[in-house]
Amino acid sequence: MSRKPPRNLSVKGALVCVILLAMPVRSLAVPHSSRHSQTSPLPANSQVRAALDWIAPNISWINELQARLTAIPAPPFQEAARAAAVKPLLAEAGLSVEIDKAGNVIGELRGANEKEIIIVAAHLDTVFPAGTDVRVHREGTRMSAPGISDNGAGLAALLALARAVHSAHLKPQRTILFVSDVGEEGEGNLRGMRALVEAYRARLKAVVVLDGSGTDHVTTKALASRRLEALVTGPGGHSWSDFGMPNPINALVRGSVRFINTKVPATPRTTFNIGQIEGGTSVNSVPHEARLKVDIRSESEDELVRLEVALRECMAAGVRDEMESARDRSKGKLEWKVELLGSRPGGELKADSPLLAALRAADDFFGNQSRVERSSTDANIPLSLGIDAIAIGAGGNGGAAHSLQEWYDSAGRELGLKRALLTVLGVSGIAEEKSR
Ligand SMILES: [Zn+2]
Repeated sequence: MSRKPPRNLSVKGALVCVILLAMPVRSLAVPHSSRHSQTSPLPANSQVRAALDWIAPNISWINELQARLTAIPAPPFQEAARAAAVKPLLAEAGLSVEIDKAGNVIGELRGANEKEIIIVAAHLDTVFPAGTDVRVHREGTRMSAPGISDNGAGLAALLALARAVHSAHLKPQRTILFVSDVGEEGEGNLRGMRALVEAYRARLKAVVVLDGSGTDHVTTKALASRRLEALVTGPGGHSWSDFGMPNPINALVRGSVRFINTKVPATPRTTFNIGQIEGGTSVNSVPHEARLKVDIRSESEDELVRLEVALRECMAAGVRDEMESARDRSKGKLEWKVELLGSRPGGELKADSPLLAALRAADDFFGNQSRVERSSTDANIPLSLGIDAIAIGAGGNGGAAHSLQEWYDSAGRELGLKRALLTVLGVSGIAEEKSR
């Protein structure tokens, strides 16, 4: 599904670009529909053109980089080796680089206006545990390895964008931070992005997340989710002699049956999943504990709250039922609790956001079409706080993410990189070009 950029700019495309470039950063906030009424362009700027032109001749360098980084294991909470490899690469792109306490690698490109910041981020971590074979197999433009697309493609794009901007000696209006961040996947719970947003919140104007492949979508809506663990404990005892004592597994099962009968709406789409259940030590013992893990997701924060409350009520009722039916309550009492394991807040980018306008302008310029998506990404954190953010693919095509068969095909990658670059520069703005 790769789409090549048109060789000749359409009049419409050229106009849009002219508009973007000539406008000061603030006025980039024009809604999509009114952009065409303005005059003048981002790619008309010779430095922006030079940055865009850097990409095509360097595609094989970018592919190599992707393969090299993907082959460095980066399991959850163990991103340091890959971070150490990214750091000098960002430095080579002329950035001042540091690794923060969370483990994020941050490369700064100072803008004319240092009080305003744009973050471009690609996550370092994979879902694959230590010991997974992450060697990259290549055949033509196709590469396969766990993590090659998610997020080898994003990391390679991040570094390519930094290089492209550097090679064009381009100074942005707003400061750009090129970041490879930790903790995006699973129980990482977005801790890298949380740390970034906390550190830069007052100056942060927009976040562009590069995640996976493709040019066919833009994630503007953050899918909210919660992961919870329910735990029931009791005294435990012998299956025969202590029969009649309240049983934590019984209570958990009673509560679970109530919970899975909870109605959820199709719209806003809301889901739940009991993904793990465990407890007990042997078949002839009354267990002393039982636990389960639940993942709940919804397009609506209200539904998430409702389901979390439902889980607590159902567990309380399950414990109550078990206590009431226990023949011998003198043998002890059940305790229960529900704990939050992780929470990804929801949020949505406003339709008139300058960031979305910049993305749409880039799509228009390259003749690319993309659909709006709701998904769970690093963009959840800024979006939940009302900070403009999107997540986009890094170009090319990929598939079988989070599996050992994951693959990436670099055909069409150029479009994805240019689209991302123009979007970032659209929101950072360009400091006035020095006349030579
Ligand atoms: Zn990812």
